[in-house]
Amino acid sequence: MDSTEFRKRGMEMVEYICTYLETLNERRVTPSVEPGYLRHLLPSEAPHEPEDWDQIMSDVEDKIMPGVTHWQHPRFHAYFPAGNSFPSILGDMLGDGIGCIGFSWAASPACTELETIVLDWLGKAIGLPDHFLALKEGSTGGGVIQTSASECVLVTMLAARAQALKRLKAQHPFVEEGHLLCKLMAYCSKEAHSCVEKAAMICFVKLRILEPDENASLRGQTIYEAMEEDELQGLVPFFVSTTLGTTGSCAFDNLPEIGKQLERFPGVWLHVDAAYAGNSFICPELKPLLKGIEYADSFNTNPNKWLLTNFDCSTLWVRDRIRLTSALVVDPLYLKHGYSDAAIDYRHWGVPLSRRFRSLKLWFVLRSYGISGLQHYIRHHIKLAKRFEELVLKDKRFEICNQVKLGLVCFRLKGSDKLNEKLLSIINESGKLHMVPASVNDRYIIRFCAVAQNATAEDIDYAWDIIVDFANELLEKEQHDELSDIINRKKQDTLAQKRSFFVRMVSDPKIYNPAINKAGTPKLSMELPSPVVSRGNAPIIRTQSSVDHNSWISWPLAFLFNSGNNEDKGNNVSLRFRHLDTNVRHSSSRRNSGAGSSPSPENELDIVSAQQEQRSPRRSPNVMRKASSSRDNPN
Ligand code: PLP
Repeated sequence: MDSTEFRKRGMEMVEYICTYLETLNERRVTPSVEPGYLRHLLPSEAPHEPEDWDQIMSDVEDKIMPGVTHWQHPRFHAYFPAGNSFPSILGDMLGDGIGCIGFSWAASPACTELETIVLDWLGKAIGLPDHFLALKEGSTGGGVIQTSASECVLVTMLAARAQALKRLKAQHPFVEEGHLLCKLMAYCSKEAHSCVEKAAMICFVKLRILEPDENASLRGQTIYEAMEEDELQGLVPFFVSTTLGTTGSCAFDNLPEIGKQLERFPGVWLHVDAAYAGNSFICPELKPLLKGIEYADSFNTNPNKWLLTNFDCSTLWVRDRIRLTSALVVDPLYLKHGYSDAAIDYRHWGVPLSRRFRSLKLWFVLRSYGISGLQHYIRHHIKLAKRFEELVLKDKRFEICNQVKLGLVCFRLKGSDKLNEKLLSIINESGKLHMVPASVNDRYIIRFCAVAQNATAEDIDYAWDIIVDFANELLEKEQHDELSDIINRKKQDTLAQKRSFFVRMVSDPKIYNPAINKAGTPKLSMELPSPVVSRGNAPIIRTQSSVDHNSWISWPLAFLFNSGNNEDKGNNVSLRFRHLDTNVRHSSSRRNSGAGSSPSPENELDIVSAQQEQRSPRRSPNVMRKASSSRDNPN
């Protein structure tokens, strides 16, 4: 592709992106593909010869797009926003065009210097104390762009670990570093992002995960007690990661309390992770949420979440840049330059050596929107979240599960976690809306986040309508299922009665023959006479229900044999049941008028085993027991 074609294709690409974003709501929010779908659509080898650009773009639409989750879709309400804006896209495009690698000042001075300046701009705009700003007179701090919040937490923990080990080594010069390392303890709340746990795994240190209060906020006293307890055990607290705007419910740890308590533990690094919420502090009315920042050693927020900047752009500020870089400095000769002492080399501020020109897009965003434009954007999302909260509160079947301070609303149907899981699952399956769950205070909640840059009140109302529609459907189904459950339970409860009903089908003609009822047959009594009565020589077993309803299997069969036109034959049908070493012969005495061939209490069944015919009638109860065992194992 030469520059002439690049111009043409570049314009086409801009057109494609604009059309994509403008027509997003015609697509499903989430794809309906199975894992491995793309493997079946693309060749297993890279093409050996160059391919036609139009063909590549046609594959984008036909093969890639069906597998895309559309994070910029107006119906996408999952996670937190994925920052995106035209100025940011263009800034990234320019950075890619320049294509420099800014690991040191000398490697590309503008790349380094713009990062320092833009980080100072943003730091001031969100209200960070002066000691976090690189260009402030007398400051030892400064800001840096990292790839992700996870990386910010990791590098600060690495710095804290290096500082703690240095201090311990000075106190115990003859103790191995490995032994000192196993004494280190980091702290965070149960609501902290999992990246803290991951950082502790990488740093090979212990992490104590603490219980927050009922508002999902970690309190100073909790931290203090945990640290004191650990110190008594001989452990060394060295790092605390607090969160302003937790991932689950956008809760805020009590930073002023925690900071105050940490004054009792000098040397413990206090980090503040405000990956999402930190961007909102650009609004003066939200700055109180940053209270306590004066205690912090480091702070991170992601403009690539909520400040219209495309991934990756996670900003980190530290109070003391030497404490950060001394944990990460390696200085081979080939990376040294004449200005090493006078300039910032960002390669010492993070894990990778190579760095993109990421400050360009943030610079473009800050300049094209201005602080006022960004404030407007943040306030707009908060207004939308408040609108959603009001809609939820109006429906008494739902409840709100967080304090809605920013753009995240946590809600649930009043009812079980399972019910809410089902609700979210059917909504997400529909592809009409996308939300994710979280567990807050050990309860399953659904997170609804205002995400799309240009989302409107109508989008919020539409989303709520969808949620209500699915909730109605689910609750109706649940009611129906509950009814079915009750019916099933009732069915089971009455199974025994049903069995006896079968018996009565045979033995109690008044159930099926009203004529008998009218004739006034003798009432069946639950206190039954002895099941065995003697009539002549044959043992006669009354077939009344409660003689022994364990034997229900055999009776309906006998009834079948005795029904229809089998009147006469039925009298002498002998049945042999497996597991029942017995012949059954129906003997109809037909003493009841209108009973036809149907058996009645007076139409008794003779159960006669070959032996029984000769034996005493008292053998009969044995036969009944055998019949009952056949019920347990019908065959
Ligand atoms: N910290 C918080 C509070 C978050 O909400 C998130 C992600 O949502 C992270 C950290 C991890 O962010 P990243 O993906 O940039 O590592």
